[in-house]
Amino acid sequence: MEEKEGAVKTLIEKATGRGAEEVKIISPENVFTGRWVRLKCQYGCGGYGKSLTCPPYSPKPEETEKILSDYEDALLIHFPTSVEDISNIMVDLEREAFLSGFYKAFSMPAGPCGLCEECSVEEGCINPRKARPAMEACGIDVYQTAREAGFPIEVVRSRDCPQNYYGLLLLE
Ligand code: SF4
Repeated sequence: MEEKEGAVKTLIEKATGRGAEEVKIISPENVFTGRWVRLKCQYGCGGYGKSLTCPPYSPKPEETEKILSDYEDALLIHFPTSVEDISNIMVDLEREAFLSGFYKAFSMPAGPCGLCEECSVEEGCINPRKARPAMEACGIDVYQTAREAGFPIEVVRSRDCPQNYYGLLLLE
């Protein structure tokens, strides 16, 4: 137990060291999914079907809900607008977690995968060690999840509005 607590503390320090504003340990039961999230991806997002980390390729909300029940803990990581490398940070934290004994560790960043100029949707991912689906791409209601954890998040009405990004690291 002590070992686990130490490993989580190290992960939190690493996240803040890479620019995260705050990290909270939450129960996966407090990560909320919604079928409507998928709808927003399908109707309204220009990225739909253009990346293997996005719908229709990423896990559906119902699948994500089941996946969440496989985990004991999660780190919800709040990034300010100034941090641009969230995908890399999250996958690095996942690896750190795995190596420290959380053999089921899995990370979900924010936004579409931007590792390649064009995603090789037909051929399969060329960088599977780094590509991970975003929380919203897996049908997670990021608004409700962040608010429930006491984090700020509002609808972004213009480019001048403050933006809050979140990554999720599932641990067990
Ligand atoms: S790493 Fe490249 S091929 Fe893989 S999901 Fe991301 S953009 Fe697509």
